[in-house]
Amino acid sequence: MLKKSIILFENNGFDLSGIKENINLQCRGVRKKIDGYYQVIDDNNFDLNEENNYRYYPNREIHKIVISSKIDNGLRAAETLIHELCHAVQYELHGYDCQPHGKEFKAIAFSVGLDGSRPTTTPALPVLEAQIEEWEVELGTYPHPVSMPKKMKILEVIGSFVLNLFFLLYLIFIVGSVSIIIYNVYEYFLG
Ligand SMILES: [Zn+2]
Repeated sequence: MLKKSIILFENNGFDLSGIKENINLQCRGVRKKIDGYYQVIDDNNFDLNEENNYRYYPNREIHKIVISSKIDNGLRAAETLIHELCHAVQYELHGYDCQPHGKEFKAIAFSVGLDGSRPTTTPALPVLEAQIEEWEVELGTYPHPVSMPKKMKILEVIGSFVLNLFFLLYLIFIVGSVSIIIYNVYEYFLG
């Protein structure tokens, strides 16, 4: 859905090359009664790359987008994602110089097909709604496993930890048995 949304912005003349690599999309519970939020966070400049080596990123800004895990339908999730991406684009274009949902925001929202006339919720206009429905056919019903890779990583870590633990126990068992045998042999001949 994120990839599709980025293409949507690019097709409408927005250059997301500066942000698309640094979008951190999360789907989780949010305390307030909101559908999602957008936040710019400064990265601490180091991150693990694919080869598990630390890589330096000069003053990287992470565009954090959180979609409420309470949302259970794809249309609303996509509307929320696109809404938050509008904030990211606005930040790229204007920084903090304008209202979060001011005229600049509305203009961006309208150009990608959201109804920007409302203050905070921006439902998709019919054209975008039809587009999102097409995405859903292609991607499957929402919720998609957005956070799967992270969960898989945790499972992998737990898995290897358990394996290591078994190996360690096995080693202790072997060393213990050999010690007992040596001790008995010693006792037998010299005791
Ligand atoms: Zn907003």
